[in-house]
Amino acid sequence: ASENEAALSAVRSDSPTIFDKIINKEIPANIVFEDEKVLAFRDVAPQAPTHILIIPKLKDGLTGISNAEERHVEILGQLLYTAKLVAKQEGLEKGYRLVINDGPDGSQSVYHLHIHLLGGRQMNWPPG
Ligand code: ADP
Repeated sequence: ASENEAALSAVRSDSPTIFDKIINKEIPANIVFEDEKVLAFRDVAPQAPTHILIIPKLKDGLTGISNAEERHVEILGQLLYTAKLVAKQEGLEKGYRLVINDGPDGSQSVYHLHIHLLGGRQMNWPPG
C-alpha cells in the first residue's frame, strides 16, 4: 500500500498510536504539562527551539481534527487553552505558532489528535 493508503487506513481503523504508550507511561517522554484530560510533552524531533505536542489523553475517535464531533467541543477548547498555558510556561513572550496537521495532505503522521506548539524562533509564512 502507498503511504497515503496506509495513512487513510490508520484514520479509518482508529488504532492505537505511539501516543497511547506515552499517555500510559510505557515509553518515556519529556512531559511539560499534565492534568486529568490533557498531556503536553516535547516533540522528539523538534522543528523549533520549543516544540511541544498537546494531546487529549482519551482519544475517543479523535484521530485528527477532521474526525471531530460535537461531543469533542469541550476537549478541543481545553487543548487550545492548554497550548496557551504551556506557551506562557515556556516563556514564549514574543509569540509562537500552533499547528494541527490533518491527513496525508496535511502531513499528519500520528493519528491521535495533537496540537503542535512551536516557538523560540521567527516563523515563516506560508509554511511548507
Ligand atoms: P509530522 O510527523 O509531519 O509532524 P504529525 O503532525 O502527525 O506529523 O506530528 C507527529 C509528531 O509526533 C512529529 O512532530 C513527531 O516528531 C512526533 N513524535 C513521534 N513520536 C514521538 C515520540 N515518541 N515522542 C515525542 N514526539 C514524537
